[in-house]
Amino acid sequence: MKKLALHWQILLGMAAGVIFALLMTNFSWGAEFISDWIKPFGNIFINALKLIAVPLILASLIKGISDLKDISKLSQMGTRTILIYVATTVIAVSIGLVMVNLIQPGNAIAESTRNDLIASYEGDANIRIADAQRQKEAGPLQALEDLVPGNIFAAASDNGNMLQVIFFAIFFGIGLILIPEETAKPVKAFFDGFNEVILKLIDLIMLAAPYGVFALLAALVVESPSADLFAALAMYAVTVLVGLALMIGVYMMLVWIFTGRPPAFFENGIAPAQLLAFSTSSSAATLPVTMERTEEHLGVHEEVTSFVLPIGATINMDGTSLYQAVAAVFIAQAFGMDLSIGAQLGIIATATLASIGSAAVPGAGMVMLVIVLAQAGIPEAGLALIFAVDRPLDMCRTMVNVTGDAAVSMMVAKSVDKLGEPHERKWDDNLPKKEKI
Ligand code: ASP
Repeated sequence: MKKLALHWQILLGMAAGVIFALLMTNFSWGAEFISDWIKPFGNIFINALKLIAVPLILASLIKGISDLKDISKLSQMGTRTILIYVATTVIAVSIGLVMVNLIQPGNAIAESTRNDLIASYEGDANIRIADAQRQKEAGPLQALEDLVPGNIFAAASDNGNMLQVIFFAIFFGIGLILIPEETAKPVKAFFDGFNEVILKLIDLIMLAAPYGVFALLAALVVESPSADLFAALAMYAVTVLVGLALMIGVYMMLVWIFTGRPPAFFENGIAPAQLLAFSTSSSAATLPVTMERTEEHLGVHEEVTSFVLPIGATINMDGTSLYQAVAAVFIAQAFGMDLSIGAQLGIIATATLASIGSAAVPGAGMVMLVIVLAQAGIPEAGLALIFAVDRPLDMCRTMVNVTGDAAVSMMVAKSVDKLGEPHERKWDDNLPKKEKI
C-alpha cells in the first residue's frame, strides 16, 4: 500500500483529535481524561520541536553564512530579504484594513454582548494587558538594544530571544568567513555535520506529527470557551480569515510571477509546515519543518533557507500584522470610534512594527497588538473583547506567517540564482536547474 503523504496524515490526525474530543465531552470525565492523558503528548511533541529550534538556527545559519564565502554576498541577500519581508507585511496590513472596512464586523456587535464579553474575560485579559503594558513602556531603541545578547545561553533559553540567537549565529558566521580558510575548515566541518544530525532529528520528530497534532487538537477542543462566544465574534473572525486566505493567494501569485512555480507546486511543498503551524500556533516550533520542506520540496538552496527562514520566523509575520490591523479597527468599531484615514495609515506602520516585534510563540501577536491600539488611541480594554477567539485565529495567522517565509525564501533564492529542483536531503550543486518553468 502506498504510504499516505505527510500532510494527509497530519490532517487525519487533526480531524481524529477533534472528533475524539467531541465524543469524549459526552462523558463527565472526558475533558479531564484528555487533559491528563492526551494533552501531555501534544506538549511533548511541541517541546521536541522547540528543542530542535535553537540548535537548528545556530547550525544552519553559521553553516549557511560561512558557505557564502564573502560578505558582499551576505549583504546582498540580507538587503533583499528584509525589503521583501517588509513589503509583504505592508501588503498584508493593507489587505486587513480593506477587509475590516468592507465587512465592518465591529458594528455588528451588540452593546450587551460586548459588556458581557468584557466582564467574563476581564481576568484572563488582564494578564495579557499587563504583559502588553510592559511592551508599550519600552523606549524607541529597545528593539535594537534587545538584539545583542549579553549571554548567548540566556538568549537560547526558554525565556530567551530567537533574534538574539540569530544575531549571534550571523556574527559567528561572519567571523568564520574572515579567518583563514585552513583554520575555519574544521569549524565548518563540525557545523556541517551538526546540521545533518539536526535534520535527521527533524525527520524522526515528524514521524510523530500525526499523533502530536491529534493530542494538541483534542486538548484544544475540550479547553475552548463556549460556542456562543465564538458565534458573537464570528464576523470578526471571518474578516481575519478572509484576509488571511487572500494573503495566501498573494503569496501564490508572487511565487508564480517571480519564480515561475505554479500555486499547486508551492502549496504541495509547504502544506505539512502549514498544518504544523496551525496545530502549534508557533512559527518558531514550525521552523525546522518549514526549512526542510522549503529545501527539499520547493527546491530552495540551503544557503538561502538557512539565512532567510530563521529570520523570517522571527520578524516576518504577515498573518499577525494582518490580524492586528483587523483587530485594532474591529475594536475601534465595537467602541463606536470612527478612525480617520490618517489613523488607519498609522496602523499600517505600527502593525508592521508590532508584527516584527512579536515573538514566534502562541498568543504573541495579541500582546503586541497593544502597541497598535495605543498608537491609534483605541481603548486597550478591547483586548478582552477579542480574547475569546484569539487562539483559533492565532492558529490561522501562524499558518500565514510560515507560508510567507517560505514564499519569500523562494523569491530571494530566485533572485540570487539558488532556486533548483525539489530534491532529497542534501543540495547538490550539480543538480539540474530548470531553465524556464
Ligand atoms: N503565533 C504567531 C507565530 O508564532 C505569532 C502571533 O501570535 O501572531 O507566528
